[in-house]
Amino acid sequence: MATRLQARRLDGIDHNPWVECTKMASEYDAVNLGQGFPDFPPPDFALQAFQLALSSDFMLNQYTKAFGYPPLTKILASFFGKLLGQEIDPLENVLVTVGAYGALFTAFQALVDEGDEVIIIEPFFDCYEPMTLMAGGHPVFVTLKPSPTQDGELDSASNWQLDPTELASKFTSRTKALILNTPNNPVGKVFSKAELELVANLCQQHDVICITDEVYQWLVYDGYQHTSIASLPGMWERTLTIGSAGKSFSATGWKVGWVLGPDSLVKHLRTVHQNSIYHCPTQGQAAVAQSFQHEQLHFGQPSSYFVQFPQAMQRCRDHMIRSLQSVGLKPVIPQGSYFFIADISDFKKKMPDLPGDEDEPYDRRFVKWMIKNKVGQALSGPLCVFLQAGHKSSPSSAISPGTGVHLCQGMGSLSGICQKLLGQAGLGGHSGFHLLQQATSEAL
Ligand code: PMP
Repeated sequence: MATRLQARRLDGIDHNPWVECTKMASEYDAVNLGQGFPDFPPPDFALQAFQLALSSDFMLNQYTKAFGYPPLTKILASFFGKLLGQEIDPLENVLVTVGAYGALFTAFQALVDEGDEVIIIEPFFDCYEPMTLMAGGHPVFVTLKPSPTQDGELDSASNWQLDPTELASKFTSRTKALILNTPNNPVGKVFSKAELELVANLCQQHDVICITDEVYQWLVYDGYQHTSIASLPGMWERTLTIGSAGKSFSATGWKVGWVLGPDSLVKHLRTVHQNSIYHCPTQGQAAVAQSFQHEQLHFGQPSSYFVQFPQAMQRCRDHMIRSLQSVGLKPVIPQGSYFFIADISDFKKKMPDLPGDEDEPYDRRFVKWMIKNKVGQALSGPLCVFLQAGHKSSPSSAISPGTGVHLCQGMGSLSGICQKLLGQAGLGGHSGFHLLQQATSEAL
């Protein structure tokens, strides 16, 4: 056997904190808020569509077209064509993938070469960095910076902004792509049209591809609007837009995703797809096709799932924010997505020495401590998971000067966490922070 088993492309990316967190979640029977999957069923029309796909045409048990089940590519083309203001060809401009993860991986493999630079906006969905590295690229980070809030005022994801000069300075002759994520995981920021125009102008000026991850595009709150960067002038030609049926229809286990873009880019993704996974499960694709057909009939109306779903999630968000505030944490109000982060600096002042390795970031120790001591019985993700390697040990100074460390929470499993957070540990109705402290002292 070769002395070195692992391929060099895995160097530096073979440890994933989520693996450890997920293991702890099952060990301690914690509610898993870190990963972003709902604990409620998909809408009835989507479930029925899947049942039909299983029980109707037996040929749906077989391979379909490698680049997507034709009714699905067709409806994606017409649905998103209208939204992007673009004539979309189901064969040339659409590729169906194994979830949005599959779309991202295929895009990085197809377009990023050895030595290419990829601009990543931090904090970022954690797979962007390893996917860049696996393709041989160099991640170049630019950080969203929160503006200071007034005393007692809650921070909002809209305060987390790109510095235009800093962003411009990241573009070099080696920049191949920029990855955008709106609404963003983990901060819940929805990029405004003006911010997208800034990114778009720089991409055009420097001839850079934009890979935009818009899996949470329907989950936008407080009247904010999601804008697809591909709909801005001159951007369709250089943009890959990534979506997810799992996130759209609350069915993350279906793992159906897609990429939309010009043939000049998508054709290279087809080459990767053809020579790797080749084909996605047909029945899931059929179910998603039918779900979109249903949505198309209701689009923009109160009966639309894409209208009802964000309303329901906004209520969950508000409930969750109140819950976290009541236990002394300072959530950053998300404008969209399943996620938000919370400032735990006050907690850190009172409990600076949580157990854990000395070089382990405080937020990671905090999350582990929460799980182990059943104070909140929640598994969330420490924000350091969403930061570049150099920032992992000092997220407070990298991301939010003076406000301390943050904790990422998901809202998908809200009912469980709120019950446990407020009820079981006796936090509700009291000074939650004090009780949290008391529970900590007992636990230590
Ligand atoms: N992009 C973002 C920002 C995500 O949060 C996730 C899932 N957590 C994905 C992509 C992956 O989506 P899918 O389940 O469709 O692969």
